Amino acid sequence: MIAVATRRELREALAGLAGDGGRLALVPTMGYLHEGHLSLVDLARREARRVAVSIFVNPLQFGPGEDLDRYPRDLEGDLSLLRARGVDLVFHPPVAEMYPEGEPQVTVDPGPMGKVLCGEFRPGHFRGVLTVVARLFGLFRPQVAVFGQKDYQQAALIRRMVRDLELGVEVLVGPTVRESDGLAMSSRNVYLSPEERKEAPRLFRALQRVAEAFRGGERRRTVLREILVGELSASPHFRLQYGEIVHPHTLAPVDPVTPGSVVAAAAFLGTTRLIDNLVLEG
Ligand code: AMP
Repeated sequence: MIAVATRRELREALAGLAGDGGRLALVPTMGYLHEGHLSLVDLARREARRVAVSIFVNPLQFGPGEDLDRYPRDLEGDLSLLRARGVDLVFHPPVAEMYPEGEPQVTVDPGPMGKVLCGEFRPGHFRGVLTVVARLFGLFRPQVAVFGQKDYQQAALIRRMVRDLELGVEVLVGPTVRESDGLAMSSRNVYLSPEERKEAPRLFRALQRVAEAFRGGERRRTVLREILVGELSASPHFRLQYGEIVHPHTLAPVDPVTPGSVVAAAAFLGTTRLIDNLVLEG
């Protein structure tokens, strides 16, 4: 495995890998890796000859008062996990290497899909995400890029960006990997106190309740949302930010709810913000 921190070294490493003509898959991450990230590496490995991972905590996608400064990091641990998983190339640039001219002047506007769900509460977040992903696509020129369903809106926006801007990258989305009690794995779970950690799977349970009701024939959006809100408000620890049922591609609210729609929620547990989602099967 080659691990590099500069664009120059990255170019050289990519030139070295290009020789065999196989496809290159990129898995962008912010590091502090867990089995969710590693499942994307495995998916990438099945789809491409070469697998590259980027580790970059992207300041552009953090708002004022968010957790940029305390975002967990463990480069050595990450590198040994990626080495064990057979990754070919890791790019872990410092901020000044990723944005050598400071904040980019030209950025990617996520449009209406970036204003709903998380976008409503994190203005600028998806502009930051799409801009760094576009930049990574420019640096790596991958044939394949792999993202997680855990960040459903992010994956939908990246698919849309690739279509709208004709970026020529195949976007794959891997399923959400969960702890044994259902909590979606996240680098941010480390923020949870032991008590909060015990409470945390309630978010997934609330989504499951909605999915059960949907399977049972309930199609009214308001009723399905009430189930979600009810489950979370039964806990004094949770503060729901949003719970919505949306179209899988446009992210617009759906009513009546149809199979393939997505129930997505964000909630605070103490100061930690958790997100999760489920696709509703008929
Ligand atoms: P992050 O490091 O949080 O920016 O995540 C990097 C990539 O891993 C994104 O595409 C995420 O959607 C994905 N990811 C994060 N958590 C999970 C998970 N529990 N299961 C599957 N993919 C995940």
